[in-house]
Amino acid sequence: MLLRRLPTTENVVALTFDACQTLKPAGYAPEIIAILRRERVPATLFLGGRWMEWHADVTRSLARDPLFELATHSYLHPHFPKLTEKQMRADLEQALAVHQKLTGRKPKAFRPPYGEQNPLTVKVAESYGLATVLWDVETGDPDPKSSAKEILREVSRQTKPGSIVIQHMNGRGWHSPEALPEIVALLRRRGFRFVQISESLHR
Ligand SMILES: [Zn+2]
Repeated sequence: MLLRRLPTTENVVALTFDACQTLKPAGYAPEIIAILRRERVPATLFLGGRWMEWHADVTRSLARDPLFELATHSYLHPHFPKLTEKQMRADLEQALAVHQKLTGRKPKAFRPPYGEQNPLTVKVAESYGLATVLWDVETGDPDPKSSAKEILREVSRQTKPGSIVIQHMNGRGWHSPEALPEIVALLRRRGFRFVQISESLHR
């Protein structure tokens, strides 16, 4: 299964946050998690396996909080369409092993790094019970020049019922912590309910 939006016509929206990490360590933006907890906003977090290892205590704490669905963002953030099936499987199996070890659970959703995927990627992910999840609302938060105001404007302009919004929580979603309280307020004013990705996969 390949999703760019949730399969629903209800007035729901999924906020998603990626924690990408290659071999080079990446950061963590605790403000994002604090805002989601304060506002009681459910969200789906796509965590890289390597990121989870570097932020093991944070990962365990996120796993204990039912507000968050932990999904996988691969192990080493490779370009999936450039990999052989064997390499895809090796990366995903490593990601799933780390996920199981740190959270005690199996993820249900997979976001391919850079949103790059092909039919083989989707098929391989499916063989591990993973839905491949992209997005339809691009906030542009990895661009340091993109201000909180611009991020909010993109969310306002693009969000429809069933939308999936992408932001980053590895310290590279530069203005996302600043924009997030306003995003939540705006979407609430428009009557959206916040859902986790897998919630709408089982209807
Ligand atoms: Zn990523």
